[in-house]
Amino acid sequence: MPFNSNPRLTRLLDASLKPLENLLIGFMAVLVAGGMFVANQVDVDFASTALYLALLLLTANLLTIVGVIYTVLLSMLALTVMFVFQGGFEQRESTAHWLRELAVFAAIALLALRGKQVADHLRHKEVYMSGAQRLSQTGCFGFRADLTRIGWSQQSARIFEYPSDTPPTVDMILARTHPEDVPLVLNALQKASCHDAMIEVRYRLLMPDGRVRHLHMIATPLCTRPDRFEYLGALMDVTAIEHAEAALSQAQMQLAHVSRVTALGELAASIAHEVNQPLAAITSSGEACRNWLSRPQPDLPEARQALERIIASADRGSEITARVRALSQKSAPLRRTESLNDIVNETLPLVRHELADHGISAKIELTVFDGQISADRVQLQQVIINLIINACQAMSTVNATPRTLLLRTSVSDREALLEVADQGPGICATLLEQLFTPFFTTKEHGLGMGLSICRSILDAHQGRIWASSTVGQGSSFMFALPLLAVNDPGYASAI
Ligand code: ADP
Repeated sequence: MPFNSNPRLTRLLDASLKPLENLLIGFMAVLVAGGMFVANQVDVDFASTALYLALLLLTANLLTIVGVIYTVLLSMLALTVMFVFQGGFEQRESTAHWLRELAVFAAIALLALRGKQVADHLRHKEVYMSGAQRLSQTGCFGFRADLTRIGWSQQSARIFEYPSDTPPTVDMILARTHPEDVPLVLNALQKASCHDAMIEVRYRLLMPDGRVRHLHMIATPLCTRPDRFEYLGALMDVTAIEHAEAALSQAQMQLAHVSRVTALGELAASIAHEVNQPLAAITSSGEACRNWLSRPQPDLPEARQALERIIASADRGSEITARVRALSQKSAPLRRTESLNDIVNETLPLVRHELADHGISAKIELTVFDGQISADRVQLQQVIINLIINACQAMSTVNATPRTLLLRTSVSDREALLEVADQGPGICATLLEQLFTPFFTTKEHGLGMGLSICRSILDAHQGRIWASSTVGQGSSFMFALPLLAVNDPGYASAI
C-alpha cells in the first residue's frame, strides 16, 4: 500500500486489485452465475435480471472493456432467449416488462462501462505516475498538520531508504536529516502547525553509511474539514542537480580564470608600463636623494623628502603587482561590501596604456553616490577590463579621430550602473542578443567568451548586463548591480 496511513491517498494511488481480491470476486461471479441458472429454472424474473446486473458489475472489475461489452450483450441475449422461450411475447404485459428490463439493464451497463473506463484511466495514470516518480526521483507525501498521521509514496520511502511498507514517522524523518539541517526541517514542521499556505524546504539527508542526499520539498494544504488540516506535497532528490551545479560553477570559475589570464596577457604592455612608472620615479628620486646627501653640506630635509617619494612610488608599484597577482590567481569568489567607483578607479591604471596604444582618450564620469554594492572586486575588475578591451578593439577598426571612451557610473532605482561607451563601428540590432552567448565572436582570433563570462559574473552578483548600439555611431555596454539597503548586513561596516 503506497500511502501507508492516509486512506484517501491510499485509495487514490493504490487502485490495483490484489490477487486475493481477484479470487474472491471470481468466486462471487461463479455464485452469481449459479444463482442466475437457478432463478431461470424457477422462473423468477426479477431475480434473474438482478443477478445479470450483479454479474455485469463483477465482470466490470475483472474483464477488459470489450469483455464487459460482450457480457452485456450476452446477458441481454440470454434475457431475450428466456423471454421467447417462456412465450412472454404472447402477453402484452410481459412484453412491456421484458422491454423495461432491457432498458434498465442497458442503462446500468452504460454506467458500469463508464465507471470501468474511469477506473482504467486512473490505473493507467497511477502506473505513469509511479514510473515518472521513479525516473525523476520524485516522491509524494501527505500529513496532518498536527503530525498525527503521515503517509508517503513508495518512491519517497526509497529516497529516505526505508522499507516501503514501514509507516513514516517524524522521528524517522529526523533520523535521516543531516544534523546541520535539522532546524530547517523543524521550521517547516512549525510552519505546518501554523497552517502556512505553502511550505518549501531544501535540505540534506545523511544516510547511515555517510552518503549525503539533497532534497527539495514542497507541500500545500489540502481542502479539509474544519477540524482537520492536511498537507499534500512532493519531494525530489536533487542530489544529481546539486552535484551538476557545483561542477558547473567550478568549470565557470576555471573558465573565468583562463579568460582573466588571457586578458592579462593582452594587458601585459599596459601593466609593464604601470610598474615602470613608479620604478622610474624611484630611480630619479634615489638619484636626487644621493645628490642632496653628496653635497658638502648634505641637505637632509630634501633628502628625506626624496626618500618619502621613493617609499610612495615603491608602495604604488607593489600595489599594482598585488592587483595583477589578484587578477591572475585562481581564487574562489569573495563577496565584500564595495564601492563601484573605487573598483573603476582601481581598474583604470591597468588599462591606461592599452588606451594610449590605441590613441584613445578616456572620459571618466564617476557620479558620487553613497550606495555600496556587495561584490567580488576582482571579478568586477575582470568585467570592466573585458568591456574596455572590446571597446578599444572596436574603435581601432574605425579611422575616426579623436577616439573617446566614456566610462560613467550612476545610480538608478536602487542600482549602481556602469556604462562603457565607445565610438566603434557599432553592432547591428540582430546581433545584440547573441553577444552574450558563449563562443559568439566576429573577430578572426576571438574566443567569444569575454561577454559570456561577464554575464555569468553579473548573474552571480544578482546584476544585469546589456548592450545598446547604433550602427556607425558606436556601442554602449551597461551593467547594473543592486545597491545594498541600509539594513543589509555589511552595509554599516562599509561606510
Ligand atoms: P571576443 O572578444 O573573443 O570576440 P567577446 O565575448 O568579448 O568575445 O565579444 C563577442 C563579440 O561581441 C565580439 O566578437 C564582437 O563582435 C562583439 N563586441 C563586443 N564588444 C563590442 C564593441 N564594443 N563594439 C562592437 N562589437 C563588440
